[in-house]
Amino acid sequence: MVTDGQDARSKSRAAQSPGNISRAEETSMSSSYAEFHRRSIEDRDAFWAEQARLIDWQTPPQTICDYSKPPFAKWFVGGTTNLCHNAVDRHLKDRADQPALIFVSTETGQEKVYTFRELHAEVQRMAAALQSLGVKKGDRVLIYMPMIAEACFAMLACTRVGALHCVVFGGFASGSLATRIDDAEPTVIISADAGSRGGKPVPYKHLLDEAIGLATHKPAAVLLVDRGLAPMNLVQGRDHPWGALREQHLNAQVPCEWVDATHPSYTLYTSGTTGKPKGVQRDTGGYAVALAASMKHIYCGNPGETYFSTSDIGWVVGHSYIIYGPLIGGMATIMYEGTPVRPDGGIWWQLVERYKVTVMFSAPTAIRVLKKQDPAYLTKYDLSSLRALFLAGEPLDEPTAQWISEGLKGKPIIDNYWQTETGWPILSLCNGVEKATSKFGSPGKAVYGYNVKLLDDQTGAELTEPNQKGVVAIEGPLPPGCMQTVWRDDARFVNTYWSSVPGKLVYSTFDWGIRDEDGYYFILGRTDDVINVAGHRLGTREIEEAIASHSNIAEVAVVGVADQLKGQVAMAFAVLKDASALNDEQAMLKLEGEVMKLVDGSLGAVARPARVRFVSVLPKTRSGKLLRRAVQAVCEGRDPGDLTTMEDPAALQQIRELVSQA
Ligand code: AMP
Repeated sequence: MVTDGQDARSKSRAAQSPGNISRAEETSMSSSYAEFHRRSIEDRDAFWAEQARLIDWQTPPQTICDYSKPPFAKWFVGGTTNLCHNAVDRHLKDRADQPALIFVSTETGQEKVYTFRELHAEVQRMAAALQSLGVKKGDRVLIYMPMIAEACFAMLACTRVGALHCVVFGGFASGSLATRIDDAEPTVIISADAGSRGGKPVPYKHLLDEAIGLATHKPAAVLLVDRGLAPMNLVQGRDHPWGALREQHLNAQVPCEWVDATHPSYTLYTSGTTGKPKGVQRDTGGYAVALAASMKHIYCGNPGETYFSTSDIGWVVGHSYIIYGPLIGGMATIMYEGTPVRPDGGIWWQLVERYKVTVMFSAPTAIRVLKKQDPAYLTKYDLSSLRALFLAGEPLDEPTAQWISEGLKGKPIIDNYWQTETGWPILSLCNGVEKATSKFGSPGKAVYGYNVKLLDDQTGAELTEPNQKGVVAIEGPLPPGCMQTVWRDDARFVNTYWSSVPGKLVYSTFDWGIRDEDGYYFILGRTDDVINVAGHRLGTREIEEAIASHSNIAEVAVVGVADQLKGQVAMAFAVLKDASALNDEQAMLKLEGEVMKLVDGSLGAVARPARVRFVSVLPKTRSGKLLRRAVQAVCEGRDPGDLTTMEDPAALQQIRELVSQA
C-alpha cells in the first residue's frame, strides 16, 4: 500500500507534466534492471512521466498517479489522448506507406497488407459507419468476429470515436454471448457471417441472433461483414451489411476524439470463480503508455519492423499485442486466421521469413502442437530476422521450451506471465533494459511498475526467503495499463481482487508462485477454481452451470486435469436425478454426448470437458463443500491429501475407478 508520505511525494511530482522531466534525470538512471525496477516503484511518478513521453498527448497529464482512493488508481490525470491516434494517425508523418496490418488467412487463402495510410482510411470508414448507427463517446460496441482485418478496423474505430469495445471471443456460443450483451449493453454489435476452422466455415450469425434473443438488452443495430462463407438472414431495420456502409463512407474523415487518460477504452470479459464473467475495464492513457513502454523494454520491437502474435482478438494478448502494442510502436502486425499446422506445420515460420518478423508471440500449447510436426520445418525457412519468441498464457514446461529453443538455434525464448486484468506482463525478462538469461520453467523477474510480493495464504505475511511458496500478489497501485475496475461493479473489483489477504490491501493474482535466490519467479498454478485449457482461461463454475442445466443432472463438479498437449483439460463428474441407468454404459455415453452438446451450445466448444462421467455421489466435506482439489488429485494420479473431513469416502473411490478405466 502507498503510505501517506509516498502519496504526498507523488502529488508534488504530479504537478510536472511528462515534458518537464529533465534529460539529466532520465539519463542518471543506472543501466541495471534492478535499479530500473526500484525506480519504477520508489520514484514512481518520475519513472512513469518519462515513459509517458513515448506516446502523443493532446494535453499532457497534470498528475501522474492519483492513488488517493486505493485500490483505485488513476493514471495520467488531466492528460487527454486517443488510442487510435497513437496506433495509426501519428505514424502517418513518417511511415504512411509502410505496412501496418498484415492480414493472412490460411482458411480462405486471403492475404492483404494494409499500410498505415490504408489502415487510417479503413478505420475512418468504420468509425463513420458506427457514428451513422448512433454510436457516441462512452457507448459500448460489442465485437463478435473472426480474425479478419475488419475486426481490427472495428476496434480502432471504437477507440477513435471514444466508444468502448467489448470483444467476445468468436469461439463462444450464444449463452456466453448473451451474458456479455446484457452486461455491456452495447449500442451496436459488429459481427460476420462466419469464421473458419480447418477449412470449414463456422457460422456466427445464427449464434448472434440466438444470443440477442436470449439477452434482455437489445442493440440498436448490428453491423455485419459478409465474407461469403455462410448464408445470413438479415433482420430488417436492425442488421446492416458492412459492404454497403463502407461504400457510403468511402471518403469519410472522422477526427480522433480526444479523451481523458482515464476514459475507459474497452472492457474484456474474463472468467472467475463465479458463473458470471467479469468485465475487465481498461483506461486509455495508462494503457497506451504501458504498451508503448513494453514494446521498448520487454519486446524490443522497433518502428518499421514486423510483430507476429498468434493469439486471437478475443483474448487480452490479441488486444495488447496483435492490435495496440505493435501499432503504437510503429510496427506492422500480422493478424492470422488459421491453425499452426495448415497447410502444414511450417506456415508460421514461412510467415516469419516472408514478412521478416522480428518479434513473435505465441502460447506454449501452440508450440506443443508444432513439436509433433516434422522438425525440418524449423530449418526450411530463413528465420534470421527473428530476435526472440515470447510465450505466455499458461505455464511453459521445460521440454517444450528446450525443444523450441534448440529449433530456433538458441534465440531467446521468453516466457512472460500476466493476466487479462493486467493487460501486459507482470513477470518477464526486460531485455530492452538489460540483457538477462532465461531460466526454463520461469517467466522471469518482476516487471518494472509491479511491486510483486509472495504472501502466506493463511496469514498474509510476506515471504522474503528464496524458494518459499506463496500467493503472487501486487502491492497497489497497479501500474498503468492494468484494469481500472470491474465494469459497473467497483465492489466486485475490491472484493474479488483486493480482499483475499486479511488486513492488507494487495492485489491477488490467484496464482501460487515461488521466487528463487536470483529473483526469478516460478508459477505453480491457480489458488482458485479457474482452469487454463490451451491458454484459454475458463471458470469451472461456468461449465458446471451449463452442465447443470441438463434436465437429468442433479449436481456436478468440474476440475482441471493436467494434459500433455493442452496444459489442462476440464473433467466433469455429475450426479444424476434419475440414476436408474447409471450402470448402462451405452446410456451413459449417450448422456455424455448430450451434456457436451449442451456446453457447446451454451458456452462454446472451447469450454467442452474432455469427459463427463456419472457417479452416485460427489466427494464433499461434512459441511457440504465440494472437494475439488481431491477430485483433481485423483484424476492426476496424485495423493488426494487429508480426507478426514470427507462425508462419504466411497465417493472418491468411484472417481478413482472411473479414471483408471479410461
Ligand atoms: P488470462 O487472464 O486468460 O491471460 O489468464 C491468466 C492466467 O493464466 C494467470 O493467472 C495464470 O494462471 C496463467 N498464466 C498466464 N501466463 C502464464 C505463464 N507465463 N506461466 C504460467 N501461468 C501463466
